[in-house]
Amino acid sequence: MIKYAKFVISNTDYKKCPAPTKPEFAFIGRSNVGKSSLINMLTNHKSLAKISGRPGKTQLINHFDINDKWYMVDLPGYGFAKVSKGIKNTWEKMISDYLTNRDNLVALCVLVDSRLEPQKIDLEFITWCGQNEIPFVIIFTKSDKQGKSKTNQSVHKFLEECVRIFGEAPQYFITSAQNAEGKEDVLEFIENEVTEYYDSL
Ligand code: GDP
Repeated sequence: MIKYAKFVISNTDYKKCPAPTKPEFAFIGRSNVGKSSLINMLTNHKSLAKISGRPGKTQLINHFDINDKWYMVDLPGYGFAKVSKGIKNTWEKMISDYLTNRDNLVALCVLVDSRLEPQKIDLEFITWCGQNEIPFVIIFTKSDKQGKSKTNQSVHKFLEECVRIFGEAPQYFITSAQNAEGKEDVLEFIENEVTEYYDSL
């Protein structure tokens, strides 16, 4: 259960992130995938993460302290077409530096829109995660936007692509920020990982 969630700091440089003394779970996805809404839903906040009116607005690594036990990290969305190449490269470097250097990162939650056919940019990103041994799970978002069978269909298609790339499907969750589907499952996953993290110290 999330008793409290507190904003800690925003950074562009992983080296300035809080000391890696707590297990960390980061959230990333294409702009507009529903990342801010999911973070707010998980933490029972209306506006812990800013729901973006303008895609690509969050360009920082945002740390939130959860229960004084673990960090939730809101990473900048990727794949926003309207940014210049220069900004894109800065983002990519910031994200890849963070992901490959953050020792306390337990899992990266990659958000994927449950309404869409598998998107090239998501598949490229998780391929990069695999190549760099970043532990990730998939969180499908906005499940309330269509019927269950349509959601299951696109989830299945995406997982098939994962099997094609990795030979196996990753752990995944189907969620909605609107009706809180998947909330308990995601939190249970994180809580178990947090317990394991402290047990292994
Ligand atoms: P971000 O850019 O990934 O942080 O996405 P936001 O959380 O700002 O959401 C983008 C848009 O999708 C907003 O208009 C949200 O209200 C909407 N949205 C996000 N999650 C859901 C969801 O689970 N269900 C529905 N129906 N709409 C959602």
